[in-house]
Amino acid sequence: MDRFRKPRLKMVETQIRARGVTDERVLAAMARIPRHLFVDEALIEQAYNDNPLPIGKSQTISQPYIVALMTAALKLTGKEKVLEIGTGSGYQTAILAELAEQVFSIERIAQLAAEARKRLDALNCFNVAMRVGDGTYGWREESPFDGIMVTAGAPKVPKILLEQLAVGGRLVIPTGGRISQDLLRVTRLTADLNEIKTEVLCGCRFVDLIGEYGWDA
Ligand code: SAM
Repeated sequence: MDRFRKPRLKMVETQIRARGVTDERVLAAMARIPRHLFVDEALIEQAYNDNPLPIGKSQTISQPYIVALMTAALKLTGKEKVLEIGTGSGYQTAILAELAEQVFSIERIAQLAAEARKRLDALNCFNVAMRVGDGTYGWREESPFDGIMVTAGAPKVPKILLEQLAVGGRLVIPTGGRISQDLLRVTRLTADLNEIKTEVLCGCRFVDLIGEYGWDA
């Protein structure tokens, strides 16, 4: 048993369930995945705190509650094909790998992607395919996706990502300004892209999504 089990279970109860995330599969995944293995050794004691943490290259591992909220918003049952844009530390990827059938994850910073891959392999997350590059283009060869999660803030919803969503699929994405955004869930209702449902889940603050359909570097 690892010495972080207690703080991890406390994180799930006090930061996540207490704030209204009730999807038991999401709660179980967050209770199981060792978040402390996704942060630098120097920050290990802070891994289960109620805040984001730096992961190098001016990027962050998101606050546990936000990871849970975004994951729950995809309403995964275990059969889905999911695209994640912004692998970062790989923590959110590992959670998705527990809850979906296949995960495709794109990270623009090669060093972060390499570190994430090592962590995911160490945890036997063999249903994760990764790519280094500009994720704002999506991963068309593997589309359609039942869920797409963007873990960096975009100026607006990239249409190219909606095109890669299956009918009935959900896209979770922070959009707005560079300082703060709204976390959106966009559901593709029909093959016609004019029929989408957009819900605002909460206000949030993410690092920039940088790329062709994001912000300039
Ligand atoms: N979910 C991650 C975790 O659990 O550690 C945190 C992701 S961090 C908030 C956002 C990530 O998005 C950063 O690693 C950043 O390099 C990446 N990113 C930004 N723009 C991107 C793009 N166009 N394509 C792929 N990754 C991008």
